[in-house]
Amino acid sequence: MALFHSLKMKPLYLDVETLEDIKTVIDAPRCFTDEDIENLNSVGLLQIIDLLIENRVLNEKQGRDDEVISNLRENIGGLQILIAYFILAESCNLCCTYCFERTPTHKPADVMMSEATAFKSINFFERMLSFHPLEKEEKTIIFYGGEPLLNYATLISTLREINQRKQDKPELWNNTKLSLVTNGTLLTKERILELNSYGLEIGISIDGPEYITNANRFYYDGRGVYADAKRAIDLCKEVDVPFGLSVTLSEVAIKHSEDLMRFLQDISPSSVGFNILMGNRTDTSYAGYDEDAARFLIEAFKVFRRTGLFEDRMMRKVKAFVQHQVYPFDCGATGGSQVVFAPSGQVGICHGYLADKKYFPTTVDDVHFIPSANPVFLEWAERTPLRMDKCQDCDALGICGGGCPMNADRTKGSIFDLDKRFCIHAQKTLEWLVWDLYDNANKT
Ligand code: SF4
Ligand code: SF4
Repeated sequence: MALFHSLKMKPLYLDVETLEDIKTVIDAPRCFTDEDIENLNSVGLLQIIDLLIENRVLNEKQGRDDEVISNLRENIGGLQILIAYFILAESCNLCCTYCFERTPTHKPADVMMSEATAFKSINFFERMLSFHPLEKEEKTIIFYGGEPLLNYATLISTLREINQRKQDKPELWNNTKLSLVTNGTLLTKERILELNSYGLEIGISIDGPEYITNANRFYYDGRGVYADAKRAIDLCKEVDVPFGLSVTLSEVAIKHSEDLMRFLQDISPSSVGFNILMGNRTDTSYAGYDEDAARFLIEAFKVFRRTGLFEDRMMRKVKAFVQHQVYPFDCGATGGSQVVFAPSGQVGICHGYLADKKYFPTTVDDVHFIPSANPVFLEWAERTPLRMDKCQDCDALGICGGGCPMNADRTKGSIFDLDKRFCIHAQKTLEWLVWDLYDNANKT
């Protein structure tokens, strides 16, 4: 048996007989002396009980867990904006089946971010940074869409301006990572080199070999996008510019996971990020999708840790587990640490609500905005499993971070409900971590 305290996160392993003896001591309607305990069957039981107390699987006094969790809740942090999404174009030249931003109202002409709005967004983000000027803290700017390269001119002038600010105000802008998520179709050799010269990390969306990618990713005329996305990857390799891959785990990808893994190993990107399918799209034709996707993430991680490839989704949980550090927020929007700049100048907290602008409480012209005084940001800052009733008895409470609130909202009607698909991933990952540690432990 593995005994595990979900906040202390140090598993202890016992044989079943020893556990039975411990239960006898706990459940007995009388007090056990040390001598009584030593007379039970298990060898070294007193020492084992001490270890369980030391590792908080057993508590010396009642109410200890309540103290720990209220402490964690108090010191959770948040409301410190460190991530900004610049939505350079709401429109896209593709119409992927699973896109959570696709709506009939997306028309390219209306929805490009102007240079003026982009610069106001930079000013807005800079003001947010000035509230907590921590030079060493990592900040991230993500250029996103739709397809951000539809608005190449604004992307370049924004990159120039940000790099200028890095020089002028290093105390605010140092350690700011710049990244791009693109479908790759509009990348050329010249663009790759130019973007790289600004220190922009390029992430290309592709779901695997041709038949997997083209099952869900295509142009409006029905042509699959694989050839163009793969061409972008080859160009990055040709000019020796590192690139990451953003891979959506579609049903076909999960059902042909060996082909997907072979593809990723052949391509050998510098990083890979897996996206699990959102909400209702997963419970239509393929009922076992959530479990299979969770299993795939674990199997892929086992391969990647041998080859040194970095996959963020699993790494976040592994890190929390290995460092015994409770992980309160799994996305920037929770904790109220993220802003999203829409082409219209509206400012929100989660890019998943781009189409209807729910949770977009202000605009780039609002020079008095303070996240800690805004109801939307305050609401999202509360959204952590540490504060959610349904999470309090969950084994994965410490490593989880709570998944995607938008998906909870879409499937259950509230950001404070569970993102069920994610719970399966977090719980299966924890179980694997516990027994992987055991398999690799020195059993003496
Ligand atoms: S709520 Fe979901 S879609 Fe929105 S930022 Fe977080 S993970 Fe992304
Ligand atoms: S896995 Fe689900 S139930 Fe468990 S802590 Fe995370 S969100 Fe809550």
